[in-house]
Amino acid sequence: MQVNSSQKYFNIITYGCQMNVHESEKLAGILYESGYLPCSEMEKADIIIFNTCCIRDNAEKKAESKIGMVKKLKKLKPSLIVAVCGCMVQQKGKADELISKFPFIDIVLGTSNSKMLKSAIEKINSGLKRFIDIELDSSKIENLPALRSDRTNAWLNIMYGCDNFCTYCIVPYVRGRERSRNKQEILCELYGLLEKGYKEITLLGQNVNSYKSEDGEGFDGLLSEISKINGKFRLRFMTSHPKDFNENIIDIMADSPNICNHIHLPLQSGSDKVLKDMNRKYNMEKYLSIIDYARKIIPDIGITTDIMVGFPTETEEDFEQTLNAVKTIKFSSAFTFVYSPRRFTAASKMEQIDEQTKRKRIIELVALQNKITAENNKKLIGKDMEVLTEDFSRYEGMVCGRTDCGRMVNFEGNQQDIGKFMSIGIEKVKTGSMFGKRRD
Ligand code: SF4
Repeated sequence: MQVNSSQKYFNIITYGCQMNVHESEKLAGILYESGYLPCSEMEKADIIIFNTCCIRDNAEKKAESKIGMVKKLKKLKPSLIVAVCGCMVQQKGKADELISKFPFIDIVLGTSNSKMLKSAIEKINSGLKRFIDIELDSSKIENLPALRSDRTNAWLNIMYGCDNFCTYCIVPYVRGRERSRNKQEILCELYGLLEKGYKEITLLGQNVNSYKSEDGEGFDGLLSEISKINGKFRLRFMTSHPKDFNENIIDIMADSPNICNHIHLPLQSGSDKVLKDMNRKYNMEKYLSIIDYARKIIPDIGITTDIMVGFPTETEEDFEQTLNAVKTIKFSSAFTFVYSPRRFTAASKMEQIDEQTKRKRIIELVALQNKITAENNKKLIGKDMEVLTEDFSRYEGMVCGRTDCGRMVNFEGNQQDIGKFMSIGIEKVKTGSMFGKRRD
């Protein structure tokens, strides 16, 4: 595309999970096909899109404060189009609330309405005051073009929505019921990505383990099909749900050189009582049996997790059980967070724990996991590992990439190394980061 003085630009600000990052790539794809180019500064943009998240109170506050900053830009450039998309606007009543707070918003699109972006822009440019489409229908979100933000790693949706209704989680309300994509379409997209040179593909779904193909096969069937694809590439998947995880998945991973030895398996709590209150539908016995089997079949498997503290019914004793689970399992790393009540959810109606207790617990949990992560990383010193180089490192003169089991390693390198598989000898670990030396 040739750049000229009338060239128009877009800037997308994304909040939340990988699902949203990939949604933003699709919004970018629609804009790129309509002639817009991406830019990183809001000041230069003709369209600013906020692709929002509402999984935690913090994510909403951050987005709202950034949306507020656009008021000045809109005054300076009245033709600027401001769109708010994603999970936040899908909450009942939220679109109206945002519009009354920020009347300069031109477009509001829900989680299944990205397809409408092009016609929304055309209508706004033809004088329509505001375009809103928040009708929840996941059948409308397929086959959108994507302008991918990375040249090595690519996201691939295998399903949308969630039926689990964990009592703390707003996702089923804003992403709708679970719907699996057609297996042949997934495989077709995967082949296309490999042909374009992507080296690592991550299958995405709120709960990939409940995937059901058109011929009635589960996630293990899809994984087994992918494991037959020849060529050098890596495959990851997230997020897994312990209640639906089966041992067959581990067996397929063990037999396939392309499926990474890494699972992200949210624990959430180490207390059976809290897991029940969360409606997670597994207990610690089931969770530990998955971990034991995974480590028996793939001894060096990387296991990462999500853990929540401060759920309304979590007592000191329950929290101790979470700490004990973390000490026993020794996750490679953990995404830890503080519970915050989300509207419409069952847990938001329960009696809440005070903020000070939540803060004390998260500090204790983070300190414990950091110690375990450092100990786990130190065990890798002296080993040679295959790393897929992803990007420049935050350390000068270095690039960084992930091992098969998901550990990030920094080493000396340059632009030419990005996108390549390299053999790296792990030499040292410093405050959570690993450093190595190339062997080739
Ligand atoms: S499985 Fe539970 S936590 Fe995950 S998206 Fe569904 S409801 Fe939310």
